[in-house]
Amino acid sequence: MKLIQLFRRLKLMPCVQIRNLSDKYQPKALRSLKPKSTRNTVQFYVDSCRVRAVAGKGGDGCISFLSVWCKDHAGPDGGDGGHGGHVIFQATHSKKSLNHCHTVIKAKDGERGFNKDCHGKNAKHVVVDVPLGTIIKDAYGRVVGDLQTEGAMFVAARGGAGGRGNRFFLTDTEQAPSVAEFGAPGETNQYSLEVRSMAHIGLLGAPNAGKSTLLRALTRARPTVAPYPFTTLRPHIGMIPYDDYEQVAIADLPGLIPGSHKNHGLGIQFLQHVERCKGLIFLLDGANDPISQYETLNYELEQYNKELTKRQRCVALNKIDLPEVREILPKIREIVDVIGISAKTGVNLDELLRVVRKMYDEDM
Ligand code: GDP
Ligand code: MG
Repeated sequence: MKLIQLFRRLKLMPCVQIRNLSDKYQPKALRSLKPKSTRNTVQFYVDSCRVRAVAGKGGDGCISFLSVWCKDHAGPDGGDGGHGGHVIFQATHSKKSLNHCHTVIKAKDGERGFNKDCHGKNAKHVVVDVPLGTIIKDAYGRVVGDLQTEGAMFVAARGGAGGRGNRFFLTDTEQAPSVAEFGAPGETNQYSLEVRSMAHIGLLGAPNAGKSTLLRALTRARPTVAPYPFTTLRPHIGMIPYDDYEQVAIADLPGLIPGSHKNHGLGIQFLQHVERCKGLIFLLDGANDPISQYETLNYELEQYNKELTKRQRCVALNKIDLPEVREILPKIREIVDVIGISAKTGVNLDELLRVVRKMYDEDM
């Protein structure tokens, strides 16, 4: 009580304003003036990229002489510069793609040395997480790194060492050295990164077979679906979660046409994507001569790489919702074991998912 009286006498009473809510005051909503984002939120899967790794420069050493009370010439006291940061790639299972990789990755420079023997700070290394199984090639296309195990690192560019200050050059004969070193420049290297295993399962099929529709039905990925060939130009990846917390990555790939192994259509580039999937789903378009489609797919894979024909596979016949497709299903079953599905209406997708999980378990 006394304190408040004292405050009043000194006119120091804190000014507290309590808003009277019964007033006619109407709170106004704050409206953002920022325009709405026009960005397309669909993200493509980046499985190879070129990066330039630029390491930091070392800090320069310092030239300085100490002068204190009663002792004008107290000797050299220039500190060393700090080291520049490295650029490092580290493999981790939590990253699945190279979407986050910038084209230029730059580490910071080391701090310069100061007087009074203060050494400059070393710069932090820049550690870029990359997916497990990333291959690193240098500018000449030679494989220089292969990150297969969790936590494996590759030093892409070494930072420059810090220069030494003039304190370092103090000797018995040279008591006042006025020399110091410059920091060394950091390395700059060009690399191309490639993810070897893109997805566990790849969807393979002719254009318009319904691969993108199937990926949309199974996962949260959003590839465009349209009734014209080559809607999908770049691979999309979706994740199928299972109730034991296992996640299976499934990739929607661009369509395969006769002559792909000779680089027709999206050709070789596309078949390289197929190489990076561990299992394949052959998706046949039931409404468009599925048997010849199946033969084409087999032929193209064999021509490109014999190894691919040994991959685990399952064959699915799409568009089973159409009556004419239902009719031909028994005929196709005589030739090859197929699962009849409909990506659009969701028929039999559970069975397909079970087969996918079986393929995944056998392969791992
Ligand atoms: P993609 O080229 O293999 O990716 O094929 P899309 O997914 O873009 O589909 C091509 C067309 O087939 C689209 O018009 C889809 O609506 C249609 N489609 C896909 N799945 C089915 C299905 O199960 N039943 C029917 N009737 N149409 C489908
Ligand atoms: Mg597509």
